[in-house]
Amino acid sequence: MADAARRARYLEALGIDVWVPRHPPAPEAAAAPRRDPASLDWPALRACVSECTLCALHQGRTQTVFGVGDTTARWMVVGEAPGADEDRQGEPFVGAAGQLLNAMLAAIELPRETVYIANVLKCRPPDNRDPRPEEVSECLPYLHRQVALLRPQIILAFGRVAAQNLLGTDSTLGKLRGTVHRFGALNTPVVVTYHPAYLLRSPGEKRKAWEDLKFARRVFADLPPAV
Ligand code: SF4
Repeated sequence: MADAARRARYLEALGIDVWVPRHPPAPEAAAAPRRDPASLDWPALRACVSECTLCALHQGRTQTVFGVGDTTARWMVVGEAPGADEDRQGEPFVGAAGQLLNAMLAAIELPRETVYIANVLKCRPPDNRDPRPEEVSECLPYLHRQVALLRPQIILAFGRVAAQNLLGTDSTLGKLRGTVHRFGALNTPVVVTYHPAYLLRSPGEKRKAWEDLKFARRVFADLPPAV
C-alpha cells in the first residue's frame, strides 16, 4: 500500500495522470462448491439433495424425492425418477404404480417397509420424459452414496430406464432380465424387471415380472451370508 502511494505521488510529480478506480474490482465470484456426496451421512445426504440445483430439473420440482424405507434393509428397490404423484408427496413409488410395487414385493415376502426405495433421479422430469444423460450423470452420485450407506445385498431395478442408467448400458429390458448384473464399488448384485407403471399398461407382462421376482429371490437365497 505504501509502495502504491509512493508510486502515485511520483507519477503525479511527473505530470502523469493516475487513474484510480472508484471501486476496487470485485473479487471473482466463487463458484458454489459441489459437496461430495461420498463423504455424507444419511441426514447430510438428504439435506444436500433437497438443496440440489446441479441440473435443470430443480426448476420444475415441487420437492426432491430422496428415498424411503429401512436404512438397514438388505433389499434395495431402484426406479427411474419421480412422477407427478411422487413429486407431490415427496416419496418414490406412490399412487397406482406404488400400490402394484407393494403387491409385487409382498408376493416375495418383502413388505414395503422392509426394503429401501430410491430413484436414479431425485427430481421429476417434465411430462415424465426419459432422464437426459447429463441429468443422470449429475444425480447418480447421490444414488451411489445411498448404496454405499445402505450396503444392500441385492438391488431390484424396476424398468428399462432405471436398469439402463444403473448398469450403464443401452441393452433392452428383455436382454437385461434373467441375469445377475453388478452395480457400484461394492459390486452389488442387480436383478432387473418391469416397471409397475408399465405393467399397469401391459398386464399381460405380469407373468414375466413374477418370473423375475422369483429369480431375484433365488439369487438372494444363494448369496453368501452378509458379513
Ligand atoms: S435431478 Fe438430481 S442432480 Fe438434478 S437437480 Fe434434482 S437432485 Fe440435483
